[in-house]
Amino acid sequence: MRVIEPHIHMIARTTQDYERMAQMHTVACCEPAFWAGYDRTSAQAFHDYFTHLTEFEPKRAAQYMIKHYCYICMNPKEAEDLALSREVISFIPDFLAKDNAVGIGEIGLNRNTPNELTIFEEQVDLAIKMDQLLWLHTPHLNDKLKGTKMMLDSLKNRSDIKPEKVCFDHIEEHTLDMVLEAGYWASMTIYPTTKNSPPRVVDIIEKYPGAKLMVDASGDWGPSDPATLHQAIFEMRRRGHGEKELQRIFFDNPYSFLSQSPKFKL
Ligand SMILES: [Zn+2]
Repeated sequence: MRVIEPHIHMIARTTQDYERMAQMHTVACCEPAFWAGYDRTSAQAFHDYFTHLTEFEPKRAAQYMIKHYCYICMNPKEAEDLALSREVISFIPDFLAKDNAVGIGEIGLNRNTPNELTIFEEQVDLAIKMDQLLWLHTPHLNDKLKGTKMMLDSLKNRSDIKPEKVCFDHIEEHTLDMVLEAGYWASMTIYPTTKNSPPRVVDIIEKYPGAKLMVDASGDWGPSDPATLHQAIFEMRRRGHGEKELQRIFFDNPYSFLSQSPKFKL
């Protein structure tokens, strides 16, 4: 079975992780722009980061026959500075023109502040104007529920949004219903030590048959492992799920979402 990894920060990973992913049958991965392990001090640093995502990572992935795609954005963790954020947003369209850029993300909220919401809304507006996919980050801190509701409320004001082109990520049990009911995609991130575990994620998949669900690994700067995605595949097999259901969750669903971008080709 071929696997698509819909959210992973390969900039934080070694080349050996690409090799492991390839050996576990991952054929494509998608890297949203996010925090770089430190707060950047200038817009130029973001420009360099976006260049890395659109030029270096696709080449590194290609050595292992993995297609690398990315989303470009001002991430919520660094969006408190409005002037810096707007300077970064000004050159996002240049990077959306690159071959592997499929949308804007991961935008959203981190501490649920007014400034974060402003920058979120300005980038939603840009995505709608440019007809781009949107990958949304819901907060990991205490206020995941509040932040998710704030984002849903904000999107309700946009009659021109296409819900099928929007995915809310880092979803947990208490935020899933409201996202699916509004017609959006939902993705669940698996962490090796904290938050969603493979069994928890498989429990949710079983509870929502046929839902617009994806699963991703927490490959980033914290305790994380690209193989958590494949641990969930093993957990589903162990529980007796057939290949058709496995393919739906780990290939067909991300394929359906991502192939709404004309650049996503496998
Ligand atoms: Zn992320």
